Amino acid sequence: MESDIEWNPLVTRNLQRQLKWEFILFMILLLVEIFLTVLFSITYTAIFHAEELLDFDEIYRDVIEVGPEEAFRINDLPEGVWIEIINDNNQVINRFNSPRLPGYQYTQKEINMFLNNLYLDVYAYYPEDNNQDFVLFFMPNADGAIHFDVILASVGFFLLLVYMTIHVISRRLGFKFLDPLNALMQGIRTLQKGDYSTKIEFVSNSEFDQVRDAINGLSSNLSQEILKRKEVEASRNQLLVDVSHDLKTPLTNVIGYSEVLLQNLSQVPHQDEQHQKMKRYLEIIAKNGKQANYLLQDLSELSLLQAPNLQIDCKPVDLPEFLREFVIDCMPELDEVGFLYDFEIPEKEISCEVDERKLRRAFQNLIDNAIKYNPMGTKLKIRLRDEGENVRLVFQDDGIGIPEEYQAEIFDPFVRADNDRNRSTGGSGLGLAITKKIIEKHGGTISLYSDPTGTTFSILLCKTRKCDLEELETEQ
Ligand code: ADP
Repeated sequence: MESDIEWNPLVTRNLQRQLKWEFILFMILLLVEIFLTVLFSITYTAIFHAEELLDFDEIYRDVIEVGPEEAFRINDLPEGVWIEIINDNNQVINRFNSPRLPGYQYTQKEINMFLNNLYLDVYAYYPEDNNQDFVLFFMPNADGAIHFDVILASVGFFLLLVYMTIHVISRRLGFKFLDPLNALMQGIRTLQKGDYSTKIEFVSNSEFDQVRDAINGLSSNLSQEILKRKEVEASRNQLLVDVSHDLKTPLTNVIGYSEVLLQNLSQVPHQDEQHQKMKRYLEIIAKNGKQANYLLQDLSELSLLQAPNLQIDCKPVDLPEFLREFVIDCMPELDEVGFLYDFEIPEKEISCEVDERKLRRAFQNLIDNAIKYNPMGTKLKIRLRDEGENVRLVFQDDGIGIPEEYQAEIFDPFVRADNDRNRSTGGSGLGLAITKKIIEKHGGTISLYSDPTGTTFSILLCKTRKCDLEELETEQ
């Protein structure tokens, strides 16, 4: 199978390109987040640490123009802020909130400390014109300490943004990589189930598209191959049916004429050696002719059953009653070969949709085998059990069993356990294949359990035909 999909990882670098863009996007978002975090921390500080953001130029102007009390009010200063206006002599000349009364004199040392802003909670504002009074702002909360709440809130805010970004990027990556991968996996699973008709459909603009096309190409090749194989199988089946039909007439003539000749020969009054020889030859011809006829019948039946469009003729049947009639018909034959038997069939009615003629054929094969391959005195048990939606039928004998190495393939056509052992029985190796096909056409299953103490065939049948329809659907 050849695919026209070209794969050159050096040329097709779409995934790499897409990943690169995702990382670039991540970096851009990270920068935006850092910017937002700075904004956040400023806003946070403005709300919870307003005194650190005061515009002292403006407040000073107000203090000089309208006095400290009015300046405090119009600038909406935080509670606890003191304002003192100090003159050239280091004396307090006006104040608001401060416990020091006008006239209070600071030492020069204190003033120097103020002017050099060596007190953390005091802000000294002195105008450009040194001759003017200067103002002291006492801010009890402005202790210069690092505000852990601001750091915590900012880090928290930043981490939240980073988490959201990672979430968004991972969603985008998921959409780009996981979605195509999921679609591919789904498609492969459908292929595994044997459904080659569905196409994998997604567009990722990356190398995944090539994988998708490769799988779709493969599945379409496979479905074409399967179609061809089905056509070949169908024509082979038809050929087998036609050949066996065409051979039937000449073979019936061979058998018929050899039997007539045999009969005529038997009526000859004085039979010499020549007569005896001819009789033996004719017997061999009739026997082999019959065997060839059985083989042709089995072959033709199996070929018909294998045709995918064959519909079996199912009708509701009281299965226990059907089985009782069947075993009654088998009893004389079982008695004749010295078999013991035991039947366990419920009295109550169990309605089951089956093709009576075909099911009888399937059961007959199992009984014939038990008789053919096991010695006199073998016990044959047949059981029927109601299992809700299903019925179970068990055909069990305590004969010689089927060797383990043949068990896995025993339902395949032409498989016969231990050919030497079976040569005398003259079977075709098609009986169990026919039985299995009939059971499967009913939507049922058949399984084998065998060891040297005997052989058991267990059949599970649906009471209604819905299972069969499902099976037919999956087959097509
Ligand atoms: P055949 O025409 O040879 O009977 P089948 O498909 O019916 O073909 O059976 C396949 C082989 O399984 C037989 O050749 C036989 O060796 C083995 N077999 C089937 N049923 C029994 C049984 N009840 N006991 C022992 N061997 C069996």
